[in-house]
Amino acid sequence: MTFSSRPSAPATPVVLTTVAEVRSALAAGRAGDSASDAGIALVPTMGALHDGHLSLVRRARELAGTVVVSIFVNPLQFGAGEDLDAYPRTLDADLAALAAEGVEYVFAPTAREMYPSGPSETRVTAGHIGTLLEGATRPGHFDGMLTVVAKLFNIVRPDVAVFGQKDAQQVFLVRRMVDELNLPLAIEVVPTVRESDGLALSSRNRFLDAGARRAALALSGALQAADAAASDGLVELLAEATANFGDHDDVTLDYLVVVDPASFLPVDEHFRGPAIALVAARVGATRLIDNTPITLG
Ligand code: AMP
Repeated sequence: MTFSSRPSAPATPVVLTTVAEVRSALAAGRAGDSASDAGIALVPTMGALHDGHLSLVRRARELAGTVVVSIFVNPLQFGAGEDLDAYPRTLDADLAALAAEGVEYVFAPTAREMYPSGPSETRVTAGHIGTLLEGATRPGHFDGMLTVVAKLFNIVRPDVAVFGQKDAQQVFLVRRMVDELNLPLAIEVVPTVRESDGLALSSRNRFLDAGARRAALALSGALQAADAAASDGLVELLAEATANFGDHDDVTLDYLVVVDPASFLPVDEHFRGPAIALVAARVGATRLIDNTPITLG
């Protein structure tokens, strides 16, 4: 007699929606079983997951025995007139993708659970760097981001949290917060995942129609041009990179800068060594960001 067997579907992650549920679910692991020995990794996200997010999850899986993915569209980091209400929410698809990665826990709280008394009066401030680049266009964005990240760290108490280099300014500010506030965890950073033509994966890419999708290549094209011109001097590099935006009517360049990774301040023409080229642009109604490491020689 033969039995046909189908591979069983991966277990869906346990979805936790309250702080109390997170504390009790993770307390058992912390008390000393084998999973706790291997630690807890947190991957903070706003959902609408794509392969970029999943590469963070895979790295988290390598680093710890228990993986918690948070899915929370944080109102505190959206300004008036930004896309808080329109931000894509795809929880069922997200849970299926995380099941396939073997994620144990998803923390998906409501805004009321995270901010029971309304927007919290106590905030982590991102300082001067929080007012530049993304912070110049989105005032208060980085204070809101750091505040929710600090809350997530305190709720989940991970040994390590995994972030994407795609949001380079966020990575700089989170690392500095962990350092300056002596938070007891490690920060791990994963390279940007791209489509085969260079477009960085983003939850907002789903808003691009075919024309905007083609126009969006101006961002990664500019970064490739910056990399290719890295030994020609800063002025030439910026000219070469900016030229990528000349052909597209429906793309508006917001900024294209090169920063020193140590300070996140723009470099001058005398700077030599590893740097980060960053770009932000509005493609139709969708604002996109991207960056790449370069070496100014
Ligand atoms: P978000 O859901 O957009 O807040 O992103 C959650 C995390 O995923 C952040 O640490 C992002 O930097 C990271 N991330 C977003 N897009 C990518 C990408 N294309 N490659 C790698 N990481 C990414």
